[in-house]
Amino acid sequence: MKTGVFFHQLFSQKYWPVMGHKFKDFPQAMEEVLVLPEVVLLEPQKVSNLLLHQVHEGQLVESLFRQDYAQGALYSVGGCVEAVEKVYRGELKNALVFNVAAGHHAGYYNAWGGTYISSTGPALANLQQKFSGVRAAIIDTDSHHGDGTREIFLGDRQVLHVCFCDLEVVEDLGTKVDVRVGKNMTDEEYLEKVRSEFFPRAREFGPEIIIHLLGHDTHKDDYGPRGLSREFFIDLVKELKGLAEEVCSGKLVIITMGGSNRMVSKYIHPRILEMLAN
Ligand SMILES: [Zn+2]
Ligand SMILES: [Zn+2]
Repeated sequence: MKTGVFFHQLFSQKYWPVMGHKFKDFPQAMEEVLVLPEVVLLEPQKVSNLLLHQVHEGQLVESLFRQDYAQGALYSVGGCVEAVEKVYRGELKNALVFNVAAGHHAGYYNAWGGTYISSTGPALANLQQKFSGVRAAIIDTDSHHGDGTREIFLGDRQVLHVCFCDLEVVEDLGTKVDVRVGKNMTDEEYLEKVRSEFFPRAREFGPEIIIHLLGHDTHKDDYGPRGLSREFFIDLVKELKGLAEEVCSGKLVIITMGGSNRMVSKYIHPRILEMLAN
């Protein structure tokens, strides 16, 4: 089985809200990894209107279509839907999904902060329709609170959402958790937080798939700094891959979130892909 990487050419051609031009050199920046027999590059389709309307209020969807970033958001979320389904079905081993203008600040009524539709909402709505009762765990290690993701899944106890941010919350019978992390942490301190706050919850919850919202805005030279080095992101994926192998047959989908530092993106994303494929 292969590792799927979902990327649309459009992502490299435009300057996107908040994250800017960070995918300008992609997918070429992953060239050496894309030739591996264990990796397949897939061009995403746009997410369907039907799925969008299941997760977002009509007005939010209509206003999205008037924006110049709409196409990027639609391809991004289409990639999330396909990746999550293919990994769940066992057609892909795991996946790395590139996202622009979509992500964790898009809730039912509101979307902001560079993310105008939800990456995970349509993907899990699609899975629930095809296989009812799926249990999924979402770990969010972007620097900011995933307010949109939380709003969409609050009350849905088939979804564990653990978000590393500035809040400290446990709600929805322990299936929705915020873990406070510091502004200036070592790589090891952050990894230890993930091991102690996410791993036991995931083991107890028993997900069938893990989705990782991986922002690199936490890098020490990015816009939501928490002191982390670029090696941190690769180590984090290594740990989550190990956890996924332990609890859900390796089913892991990584979705890119915030961060605008092009050098960080160029360094970490090829290596994360290689880590997934190894
Ligand atoms: Zn962020
Ligand atoms: Zn949070």
